[in-house]
Amino acid sequence: MTAPTKPPADSPANASSDAPLAQLLHSTVIDWFDDNARDLPWRRPEAGPWGVMVSEFMLQQTPVNRVLPVYEQWLTQWPRPADLAKDAPGEAVRAWGRLGYPRRALRLHGAAVAIAERHGGDVPTDHAQLLALPGIGEYTAAAVASFAYGQRHAVLDTNVRRVFARAVTGVQYPPNATTAAERKLARALLPEDERTAARWAAASMELGALVCTAKNESCQRCPIAAQCAWRLAGKPEHEGPPRRGQTYAGTDRQVRGKLLAVLREAHTPVPQAALDRVWHEPVQRARALDGLVADGLVEPLPGGTYRLPLT
Ligand code: SF4
Repeated sequence: MTAPTKPPADSPANASSDAPLAQLLHSTVIDWFDDNARDLPWRRPEAGPWGVMVSEFMLQQTPVNRVLPVYEQWLTQWPRPADLAKDAPGEAVRAWGRLGYPRRALRLHGAAVAIAERHGGDVPTDHAQLLALPGIGEYTAAAVASFAYGQRHAVLDTNVRRVFARAVTGVQYPPNATTAAERKLARALLPEDERTAARWAAASMELGALVCTAKNESCQRCPIAAQCAWRLAGKPEHEGPPRRGQTYAGTDRQVRGKLLAVLREAHTPVPQAALDRVWHEPVQRARALDGLVADGLVEPLPGGTYRLPLT
């Protein structure tokens, strides 16, 4: 198949200069969202800004079905940021369970402490104040401001980036890391009206999660199939650098997970020998443990024992 002509990757021209197309995308995707949005606890009014923030930390690298039980338990244990701030960071790591990438638990704890100290215990509404919280990056600040407070921000997660790459830019996958061109495109596509912009952020994300998935996209039930540049171009194959894999077995991440599982179960300091049992290869095991200590996820104690961090 001959590769069709497509707009340059760094040009959002077909969005920014085509306001009717953008408006059509907004109304179509938002209408679809109204009918198809999943009923998720962090989308309910009672979740509040803290519930939204917790969910955004958890969902960044973990699927919804694994997040749901931990989210519910977390909000029961710490219904407000100040409740979490009062507990040791190690308790956040313990409650994080098997969600993976546990530094997120420490970052969420750090954000809760800052919210308690600087903002009277309320998640700030202002985007700059959100961004200034420890552990909160561009994505999370935009997501909380948009989903919790209905503000107008470009919210670029992997699902949204994939939808924009396909529907607008006309390529199968976005670059491995978010580019300036993608941010520009996202801003160009953002509805002017604040409320519509917030709906659009949630709706385009849901479309990527449920329909325009990384593999086996469901174009036959996609509300923007008629406008999708990649589909209309005959779905040209991905031409960019290889996509990052998600290997886990045998990696240091797996060993770290096993070591942390032992420490999460224990409520008293754990001797080195108990940690040594979780992985057969001593060099990799030591490297993984050193990494956990360096990341502040594990506290070494005199006498060669370890625990989750108290401070
Ligand atoms: S038509 Fe297919 S590829 Fe295009 S946005 Fe919809 S699901 Fe994705």
